[in-house]
Amino acid sequence: MIVILLGPPGAGKGTQAARIMARYGLVHLSTGEMLRAAVAAGTEVGRKARKFMDAGKLVTDEIVIDIIADRIEADDCRNGFLLDGFPRTVGQAEALDKLLKNKNLKLDVVIEMEVDDDSLVDRITGRHTCAVCNQSYHDTHLKPQNAGVCDSCGSTNFNRRSDDNHETVISRLATYHAQTAPLLPYYSKHGVLRTVNGMADIDDVAVQINDVLSVL
Ligand code: ADP
Ligand code: ADP
Ligand code: ZN
Repeated sequence: MIVILLGPPGAGKGTQAARIMARYGLVHLSTGEMLRAAVAAGTEVGRKARKFMDAGKLVTDEIVIDIIADRIEADDCRNGFLLDGFPRTVGQAEALDKLLKNKNLKLDVVIEMEVDDDSLVDRITGRHTCAVCNQSYHDTHLKPQNAGVCDSCGSTNFNRRSDDNHETVISRLATYHAQTAPLLPYYSKHGVLRTVNGMADIDDVAVQINDVLSVL
């Protein structure tokens, strides 16, 4: 199964991807995570990507298409994968179509997660993750059961992304509306777009997504 999670920054893509992965055994491919790893490792790609990420702008299509083209060749993608944060432009979507066609693969569904801009700002500025196991939390919507202690691994260290600040969020939302929203009519025309209400609580969104995936 090949699935795309499409939605603005903070819509809950990563949160839901973790659940879909657990339930359907799909590999989670997040270009944002891959780019942050490249920045942390100080690679050539990381050096090129960093200034765009800090400014809340998109990294060039060429960089992310190369990353995805390489990644989907790996063995663990044989049974399908879940794309989170890719594609983000029509150019990337067209490149993905070509990559899949060459491999005789078919895109099953694009799940759009619809969330109001005001809620997105709140979600992103409250987001933090466990520094050890990467479990994701929110200052008000998803706190660890014991304050300051990760539910999954017991760590007391948490990270916040440097681009999860108010100013960069505004720029990332504008980028989404200008460059990524055109993917909605693109995929609608291809007959693969499904929309879920991302404003609902986390468990409810998971149920809506499961309703889409379970009938594929
Ligand atoms: P994305 O991957 O789309 O950028 P995340 O999954 O990281 O978004 O979610 C952003 C923040 O919002 C996280 O702190 C997460 O805990 C929280 N969150 C995710 N889904 C919901 C939801 N349905 N309701 C409230 N908060 C949510
Ligand atoms: P979020 O879903 O919270 O916006 P991501 O982790 O998906 O964040 O992406 C973080 C940043 O990485 C983006 O703001 C952008 O600069 C870059 N990025 C990630 N994926 C892509 C992509 N497909 N095309 C271009 N830039 C990307
Ligand atoms: Zn943890």
